[in-house]
Amino acid sequence: MNSIPEVVFGDVAVVVVAAGRGVRAGGGLPKQYRPLAGKAVLTRTLEAFVAALPGARILTVIHPDDRALFEAASAGLPAQRWSPGGATRQQSVLAGLRALDGANPAVVLIHDAARPFASAALIRASVAGAREHGAVAPAVAVTDALKETAGDDALSEDVDRSAVRAVQTPQAFAYRLIRDAHERAAAAGVDALADDIAAARWAGHAVRAVPGEASNLKLTTPDDFIMAETRLMAALADVRTGLGYDVHAFGPGDHVWLGGVRIPHSAGLVGHSDADVVLHALTDAILGAIADGDIGAHFPPSDARWKGAASDVFLKDAMARVAARGGAVAHLDATIVCEAPKIGPHRDAIRARIAEITGLDMGRVAIKATTSEQLGFTGRREGIAVQAVATVRLPFGSL
Ligand code: MG
Repeated sequence: MNSIPEVVFGDVAVVVVAAGRGVRAGGGLPKQYRPLAGKAVLTRTLEAFVAALPGARILTVIHPDDRALFEAASAGLPAQRWSPGGATRQQSVLAGLRALDGANPAVVLIHDAARPFASAALIRASVAGAREHGAVAPAVAVTDALKETAGDDALSEDVDRSAVRAVQTPQAFAYRLIRDAHERAAAAGVDALADDIAAARWAGHAVRAVPGEASNLKLTTPDDFIMAETRLMAALADVRTGLGYDVHAFGPGDHVWLGGVRIPHSAGLVGHSDADVVLHALTDAILGAIADGDIGAHFPPSDARWKGAASDVFLKDAMARVAARGGAVAHLDATIVCEAPKIGPHRDAIRARIAEITGLDMGRVAIKATTSEQLGFTGRREGIAVQAVATVRLPFGSL
């Protein structure tokens, strides 16, 4: 047993600002919901705070239309709440601060959802700074040369680098201090504050710097995503491959489940669960890649709980086992062997459903189909066989 008592941050709240809808980072989704090395940016951000501040209240301010995206990104994380944001960042922060009224925390951290790499040390230093000084923000020295401009291409006077800092989030405050500052600014019609230390300063409070981190990157452009993904992937250098194989026999019925999609057919597939031969083979492929038994070992057919179960449970469990190892699934590929039903018309629906179950991009899910030229049990239309391969990345140095 660990004899060091865990620090609990029960009087700390975090407002994660995720109400923006900007899609300029690409991918067609607001950037905070875009996958980054297989996991939504917001999920990574929330995980950082859950890990750094056990017991803290975490509130994400979202656009009301993004509720389903938020729920997917926060699924499985403890103590997650959301509240609707406003038309501007400043209004969204105030909405979040108001939503914390009942909790009345001593300290609140305000953080941009698009900064998933804040370290636990930085987060805790921000809490300590707010307790001591009332208002702090992480700041880093600027390394590029700075020049003045009138907003065009003409560069003019030097700006003294030593006289400026680049400021990050989380910005951390005594809750009452920043709540009152934002309320007063809103009441005064001040609506273009750049961030929350600007609100504190507008209300007359001094703000101190705590050391920021160069790695605490704010993801803004497509290049930022590529750089961040490269860094995450470089840490997942232990690449492994797993093989899965499954067969189910045809029996009475009018549909089959293949890859989580219900496909009308003149027969059904016989099995203890929903007999989704594609999801079973993929599950075994992932378990094979992490050398963690097989589907039968984790979900014994003797257990009545899995009778008739939708097989996405099995695939999600395998994904969770990879996540628990700190890894990521890079690619899933399956070949469905049968004379009928025809798979081609359903291929993309199956890929989309598997992408949905696993949280992977559809581009990382391949489905192929073949007949066996009327040879063998698949050729005699007695059942369906599936072969699957999973490529999994684990942290460098994994056993
Ligand atoms: Mg099976």
